[in-house]
Amino acid sequence: MEILEQHSLQTYNTFGIEAKAAFFTEAQNLDDLRAARRFADERGLDCLMLGGGSNVLLSGDYEGLVVINALRGIDAEPLAGDEVAVTIQSGENWHELVLHCVEQGWGGIENMSLIPGCVGAAPLQNIGAYGVELKDVFIRLEALSLETLEVETFDKAACQFGYRESFFKREGKGKYWVTSITLQLTTAGHRINTSYGAIEQTLEEWQISQPTIADVSKAVIHIRQSRLPDPAVLGNSGSFFKNPVIPETLFQTIQATHPEVPSYPAGEGLVKLPAAWLIEECGWKGKRVGNTGCHERQALVLVNHGGASGAEIMQLSSDIQASVLEQFQIRIEPEVNFI
Ligand SMILES: Cc1cc2nc3c(=O)[nH]c(=O)nc-3n(C[C@H](O)[C@H](O)[C@H](O)COP(=O)(O)OP(=O)(O)OC[C@H]3O[C@@H](n4cnc5c(N)ncnc54)[C@H](O)[C@@H]3O)c2cc1C
Repeated sequence: MEILEQHSLQTYNTFGIEAKAAFFTEAQNLDDLRAARRFADERGLDCLMLGGGSNVLLSGDYEGLVVINALRGIDAEPLAGDEVAVTIQSGENWHELVLHCVEQGWGGIENMSLIPGCVGAAPLQNIGAYGVELKDVFIRLEALSLETLEVETFDKAACQFGYRESFFKREGKGKYWVTSITLQLTTAGHRINTSYGAIEQTLEEWQISQPTIADVSKAVIHIRQSRLPDPAVLGNSGSFFKNPVIPETLFQTIQATHPEVPSYPAGEGLVKLPAAWLIEECGWKGKRVGNTGCHERQALVLVNHGGASGAEIMQLSSDIQASVLEQFQIRIEPEVNFI
């Protein structure tokens, strides 16, 4: 395992922010992960694992050891009925996994096509898109404890999944490196889910009335490409904020002055609002501040127009939070991990 020093992280984060890692390595297997952790421990360094860097905001240079996850491999084991358990090593690219599953005829994750990043980060925030979340197909994961260097198994209940949440973003934060995940997918009788967003409309335009999992995947890719900026062209980390869940009483106050406010039920006495709508109402959509800004088509996406620092994006994010708080009395929380 080679350790590099003062290594640029610009191509390892989708915001494209220039920051340096004091130490940097790539882990191909479990032995590399353990060696990386020991290297950091011996020198009293912090460690940061990165997959695709598509959900991080680097606030500056990283003084510890950055470990790039390159653990690869996919195994499938038939289950009873029309199902298969697929175990994926955590350094596999998520979207390539989706395409592989669709090609194999395994259904369940096609609605999550084109989400950037690696498999290992997917359980951290219970990734989701177009009406499906990771938890819907999740069986278990394996993770290396950074304390004992032993591999532990977490079933679905132990992961404590919520909306863009899990045990690994709370009590387990910074304590484990996910090494593999196992998903339960269908081999026949797929549960096709086209009810969310513009999937149905897209399939209708394509004159597809009996969509396959491949059709759904293609529709989701098509919709995402037309709505979200490609990080390879314009630095971003997708949705920057989570959609807030607020008490119904506050929602009614907002609705009195903004009858058009979109909302979704979120449990007893609770309502979820789209953060994008709140941000847009505060006048941020398409606004540029120095090298940063709010995307012109999607207010929830903060972008690096070129040369922005992590500090500039953090400033923009806190200015947006402050104006939403002032106008609506709602504190929107970042989905992105600040490093
Ligand atoms: C254009 C765009 C669109 C997006 N759309 C969606 C979407 O529709 N739905 C959605 O849920 N997300 C979306 N995201 C966010 C992002 O793609 C996901 O959160 C993804 O799972 C992050 O994976 P990553 O490998 O890039 O994680 P990274 O950014 O590398 O890491 C994120 C965090 O996880 C930690 N981490 C990474 N790997 C591991 C591991 N193996 N073990 C322990 N900790 C680890 C890191 O230390 C960091 O704290 C989008 C991002 C972009 C840029």
